[in-house]
Amino acid sequence: MIIKKTRAVNTTASSSAKLVKAVKRATKSSGTATSRTSKHADEGIPLSVAIRRRIQAQNARFHANDNISAFIRPGELESLVDEVAQKMQAVLESLVIDTESDHNTKNTSQRVAKMFVKEVFNGRYTDQPVLTKFPNVSHLNELMIIGPITVRSACSHHLCPIMGRVWIGVLPSKASALIGLSKYSRLTEWVMCRPQIQEEAVVELADMLEKKIKPIGLAIVMDADHFCMQWRGVKDRDSKMVNSVMRGAFLKDVNLRREFLALMERK
Ligand SMILES: [Zn+2]
Repeated sequence: MIIKKTRAVNTTASSSAKLVKAVKRATKSSGTATSRTSKHADEGIPLSVAIRRRIQAQNARFHANDNISAFIRPGELESLVDEVAQKMQAVLESLVIDTESDHNTKNTSQRVAKMFVKEVFNGRYTDQPVLTKFPNVSHLNELMIIGPITVRSACSHHLCPIMGRVWIGVLPSKASALIGLSKYSRLTEWVMCRPQIQEEAVVELADMLEKKIKPIGLAIVMDADHFCMQWRGVKDRDSKMVNSVMRGAFLKDVNLRREFLALMERK
């Protein structure tokens, strides 16, 4: 699934990937130390309101595609699932579905709540995957392409699935920090497992990778099926959306861009 193309030494990158796998995931940082003291003040209000207050106290943003894990305390996700389930149950009731005698929908509210919080929007509530960096010891300075990485997301507008693929092109410098190949997938998944807008998602991913790796050039291409175009709306089954972000050398160097796109299309 992951291809990598480099004209430089190949062995270093794969052994580095193993190195990264050996590093255990760090324990959750306690970024909520200040709000910990107000625990009792949160009682008697819905958990979502308590979390929202913590976010607002820090003037942080909580849009659909923002990660809010720093404001969630250990053990609270389970309670959040319960709160979402209660409200989902109200939605089913408003849709006039008899969840009492219809065995198919009896536990739907709980299932949907768990799916949102623990699975498909999990990238909002969990910490960023640990991306251990290591120095570019063999001075790789050739184009690397990672992909296609499978993407499962949902649109912020309708919460309809977005199913697609992402390719990442990196042109490292001698001074760049490298991350293991599997980490590109982990980070992509973390960003995409939120209600997203494709254009914003690729930019968010590019910003993170640029900050982490500090490459000379970075390119990201995403193509995806948007179920809000297929399941509802125009019901056009063949429409796809393709987005690209080109940074640094990929912007300036036409040949590099061409090489990336040509290699990408081979997969
Ligand atoms: Zn939509």
